[in-house]
Order: sequence, then structure tokens, then C-alpha cells
Amino acid sequence: MAEKQHICPIGKEGMYVIDTASWRNFYPVIDKEKCINCGFCYDYCPVNSVYKKDEEFYIDLKYCKGCGICAQECPKNAIDMVLEGGSK
Ligand code: SF4
Ligand code: SF4
Repeated sequence: MAEKQHICPIGKEGMYVIDTASWRNFYPVIDKEKCINCGFCYDYCPVNSVYKKDEEFYIDLKYCKGCGICAQECPKNAIDMVLEGGSK
């Protein structure tokens, strides 16, 4: 199966595949104790960085841009945005 493509619709030439891990300031961490696997983070992530595996949701940090929308939308406050290379 082909590797999933993560795209961002910017630029005059159309779609680009962007590795955001090199410039992101914050990254999301899911607390599995709080998570109810509702899938809101999956639905709201603008760059398709949340994926489902074995009925649970995970975040692909290679393409996550750290916008925090998933944390804002999570109904259980199960996602913390953590400073890259530091503390919350
Ligand atoms: S939105 Fe929150 S509770 Fe729902 S799947 Fe994502 S992390 Fe879990
Ligand atoms: S922080 Fe933004 S880009 Fe990263 S998983 Fe959450 S919604 Fe998607």
C-alpha cells in the first residue's frame, strides 16, 4: 500500500507535501486515560495528521503542524500541547 500523503493547499503550484516537524513549536500528546476515542481530533485536524488504528486515535507527529485545534476540540481535554524541547 502506498504511503499516506499529507498535503497543505498553499502555493501557486497547488499542493505541497510538508514535513512540519522541523519548525513546529508545540506538539500534541493524547492522554489515553482520558481519551474516549470519539474521533473529534481526527475530524478537525486540518492536515490529516490524526489516524485511527485498532479503534484508537493517534497523531503522526511528522506532519502535525502544532496548531492545537485537536486540543481545542477534544471534549475530554485529553490532548496537551507540549513545547518542543521544553516543558508545557
Ligand atoms: S478528540 Fe479527544 S477524546 Fe476524542 S479521540 Fe481525540 S483525543 Fe480522544
Ligand atoms: S495540533 Fe493541529 S496539526 Fe497537529 S494533530 Fe492537532 S489539529 Fe492536527
